[in-house]
Amino acid sequence: MNKKKVDLPKIRDLLISNNIKAKKKYSQNFILDFNVLDKIVDILSPIEKYSIIEIGPGPGGLSRSILARSPKELVVIEKDNRFYKLLQDIKLNYNNISIIEADVLKVNLSEVSRGQTKIIGNLPYNISTKILTTLMPIPKNTCALVLTFQKEVAERIVSLPNKKTYGRLSILAQSYCDVSIEMKIPASVFYPKPKVDSSVVKFIPKKDNSKMIDSNLLKKITRATFGQRRKMIKKTLSIFGDSIKICDLANVSYAKRADELSIEDYHSLYFVIKRIDTSNL
Ligand code: SAM
Repeated sequence: MNKKKVDLPKIRDLLISNNIKAKKKYSQNFILDFNVLDKIVDILSPIEKYSIIEIGPGPGGLSRSILARSPKELVVIEKDNRFYKLLQDIKLNYNNISIIEADVLKVNLSEVSRGQTKIIGNLPYNISTKILTTLMPIPKNTCALVLTFQKEVAERIVSLPNKKTYGRLSILAQSYCDVSIEMKIPASVFYPKPKVDSSVVKFIPKKDNSKMIDSNLLKKITRATFGQRRKMIKKTLSIFGDSIKICDLANVSYAKRADELSIEDYHSLYFVIKRIDTSNL
């Protein structure tokens, strides 16, 4: 695809000339190599007709790679105010970027963009699962997300049942989206180099009735089952009432354990627990 060519300083030079050192409290590990940044943005393609929201732009490497592909608009959300001047400088070359100076956890992502939206971010790892949890169910008008996580978290997100990695994050993410690991990024690509490797996960919202699933109740159910992972669900689901009857109505064996249940099993249990008045069971 044709990329808009704009000459801006190298990210490493920007960090040095602005005397910006990575802060651990914001999980700052930057990608300086535009070949890698471009490959991450490729996963989100096409870009041109979409609004893009970027979480945690930092010095703006990924932002520049997105803007070179001419999105309808790019909205970046950054908490560390040391980057605001660098992001404003990008705005001098691209008038379709808006900068939200805020903690992403406090922003309603359904309200910051116009029309069909895609979300991207090399996430701050100390809050990456928290960010993911707030993104489920997916914000209105969002049709794809490409997010970078620490490798182990990415494996939990895409895990299938009966694996050690299968857990609450797998169920939450896969309840609302089809998920896949699209790219692996070794720690050596980041500056400063973190202790862990990373993986880029693509999320495509499901078109079924999953939007109707209330994430708070789903989280309550998975907290009950995975809270006592080795116990049968006839025991762990008893906080919701007659657990044998709940399992029967959901057509799920009460002798199963948390990690033996498929996403569909969790949804069946969810709808029964939501629908019935458990006091009448
Ligand atoms: N996008 C840049 C890149 O790829 O090189 C930086 C990625 S760095 C791993 C994570 C970024 O998220 C940092 O810029 C950090 O300041 C920002 N960040 C951390 N916590 C945040 C929060 N609560 N809300 C918004 N941004 C945050």
